[in-house]
Amino acid sequence: MPGVSRAKAMSKAGVTVAYGDGIGPEIMSATLEVLEAAGAELALETIEIGRSVYLRGNASGIEPTAWESLRRTKVFLKAPITTPQGGGYKSLNVTVRKALGLYANIRPCLSYVPFVESKHSDLDVVIVRENEEDLYGGIEHRQSVDSFQCLKIMTRPGTERLVRYGFEYARSYRRKKVSCFTKDNIMKLTDGMFHKVFEEVGAEYPEIEKEHWIVDIGAAKLADTPQAFDVVVVPNLYGDILSDIVAQIAGSVGLAGSANIGAQYAMFEAIHGSAPRRAGQNLANPSGLLLAAVQMLLHIGQREAAERMHNAWLRTLEDGIHTYDIFRDGKSRQKVGTKEFGQAVIGNLGKTPRTLKPVRYGEEMRNPRSSFPYSPPEERKLLVGVDVFVEFPGRIEDLAAALREVGGEGVALESIANRGMSVWPFGLGETLLAGPFQCRFLAKDASLGLSQRAIVDLLGSVEAGGIEFTKTELLYTFNGTEGFSRSQGA
Ligand code: NAD
Repeated sequence: MPGVSRAKAMSKAGVTVAYGDGIGPEIMSATLEVLEAAGAELALETIEIGRSVYLRGNASGIEPTAWESLRRTKVFLKAPITTPQGGGYKSLNVTVRKALGLYANIRPCLSYVPFVESKHSDLDVVIVRENEEDLYGGIEHRQSVDSFQCLKIMTRPGTERLVRYGFEYARSYRRKKVSCFTKDNIMKLTDGMFHKVFEEVGAEYPEIEKEHWIVDIGAAKLADTPQAFDVVVVPNLYGDILSDIVAQIAGSVGLAGSANIGAQYAMFEAIHGSAPRRAGQNLANPSGLLLAAVQMLLHIGQREAAERMHNAWLRTLEDGIHTYDIFRDGKSRQKVGTKEFGQAVIGNLGKTPRTLKPVRYGEEMRNPRSSFPYSPPEERKLLVGVDVFVEFPGRIEDLAAALREVGGEGVALESIANRGMSVWPFGLGETLLAGPFQCRFLAKDASLGLSQRAIVDLLGSVEAGGIEFTKTELLYTFNGTEGFSRSQGA
């Protein structure tokens, strides 16, 4: 693999390149050849990432020196890597996304019927997935012998910039509609905030149609009738699942590229992995990385080269020159390898597709903004209670009796729940009792609120009463509205 070669020409755009593992080096070589032939003005710096770095004992799969290159260029074209099996290795993608603040994952998915098989001839959907928050914080705990938790943390600034980027993207690429998927009928605070921000930010884009779907039925509709969707903004986990589904129903996950966008940095890659079984055989389809490189060219303002490259690629698909994964007897014309596919694209530079819609990236098209000012809402926050999670092997009535004793001055036991289901004072005998009990103490007069000292004293009493607490969650109101959920069945 080439070593780090410093950018030489000042007029060229600096790009950090990583060849990755498995099929990575082959698809990267083919992509770089096409980029050069298309007239892209790039000053490449090569860094090493992935398997070899992991196996040298670097748990995050990227060398400290690689960050220097990324800081210089701010643009990363990355081939897939292989994460070695076994524990201790951290996901390189998650590390890079978080370290560089790449908060939005953009995945355009198109179908190329009749040249690539798909049930949907007019699929053209762009998934804009939140990339840093939600359950991907990876904050997990084993709370007791039989209970495990993963925290879903979503912030207003994190959501606002993602949603805003989605609308800016729609405006830049003249898309007509932005859809939002959440599960806010269940997660009223986290997904509810995402939905609310979508409505608020969306109001600033009156020319764009807006709609919200509950993610389960929305996903079903998207898989069945993708033509009803245009741009989709979505929290991290749902977006992870949805973007693979949409890429697959478009024809193949091997054809999609993605952009990871931050306020200062951006990373571009194919959506597939390193396909180790196909490595070193000149078999892999470089199209995902090639289309990621097109997104990169648009990002750095080299629109002419992007348009040439994208149209030549569409023409090559139309010509029936296909790698093994999309080759169909009777439909494709020639089965080619990675290198030959790249050469065919180069041969088509300057041509446009005849049946598929040619792309047009005019100079008048501006890139979506990715850096936005944020001002937090001004709200009065008041501490009104605490959820104390306790382990208790006995009867609920005995737990309630013990906790009613410890209720300190100004605070009283209000309810007990198990896994979000009320078990005291209302409950059903059939409810499975597993893991810690969520014991809610509320201020006797919510308008006065509580001091942090009152909470500490309360916990002291719980401990003195011989009850084992495993965690606490403070309960606040914001402008008088409860900032916590109520248990089911309460
Ligand atoms: P994969 O995407 O590598 O392969 C899945 C299937 O698709 C395989 O049958 C493969 O042969 C085929 N395929 C994938 N890309 C292709 C291409 N360009 N051309 C032709 N066929 C292609 O997924 P996997 O097998 O689950 O993962 C393999 C490795 O890749 C794992 O180590 C995983 O951690 C890693 N991975 C890396 C990234 C990344 O770096 N961004 C993403 C996903 C998986």
